[in-house]
Amino acid sequence: MRILLVEDEPRMVQVIAKGLREHAYAVDVVGDGDAALYQAAVNDYDLIILDVMLSGRDGFEVCRELRARGDATPVLMLTARATVDDRIAGLDSGADDYLTKPFSFRELLARLRALSRRGNEVRPDQIQVEDLIIDLAGQKVFRAGRQIELTAKEYSLLEHLARHAGQVVSRAEIAEHVWDQSFDPFSNTIEVFVNRLRKKVDDQRAVKLIHTRRGQGYILEPHSDGSPS
Ligand code: CA
Repeated sequence: MRILLVEDEPRMVQVIAKGLREHAYAVDVVGDGDAALYQAAVNDYDLIILDVMLSGRDGFEVCRELRARGDATPVLMLTARATVDDRIAGLDSGADDYLTKPFSFRELLARLRALSRRGNEVRPDQIQVEDLIIDLAGQKVFRAGRQIELTAKEYSLLEHLARHAGQVVSRAEIAEHVWDQSFDPFSNTIEVFVNRLRKKVDDQRAVKLIHTRRGQGYILEPHSDGSPS
């Protein structure tokens, strides 16, 4: 999951971005509305966290502009005041949800999970492929009933592949949704992480789940040992 965080207070940025990264989100940060509109145009974000109080265009204007362009990315607005007028203005501008400062980080995470479940289809709280189970709320992974310990980035990569189980996911798509804008597209980072995931998820298993499609990308689907992957 890749998030665009639009906020101009350095302290808030630091707390939110650090916390989100620890919870396996890729995060790009911008400090004003024009930069937000530019980033949202060039990247395909899964979610946008948008502060209302920005210098220049405020969050309401940014959200209206996004919707006017046809950008349907879920937007969570951060407001400093809990007035009814503010909440109405936020929802009228096209935001999907709002959170009043100060908020608990756990509530922010819960709102983001709820927003990511909207969209085209109702997403379950867990994904299961064969004996692999991903608990999306707890960000825990189990295979054959035993928990697999993953780093935040490994988890994020596996979750992305599992959300598209049975479909080939390209390296570009992985880079876009699992890494942030500091990702170097010419590095072999993705291969390195896929290999680490394979070791943890597939080693010693008769049924392999993570497969390479040469020249296309990766696919998560069950295959027995010896069958083409
Ligand atoms: Ca602000």
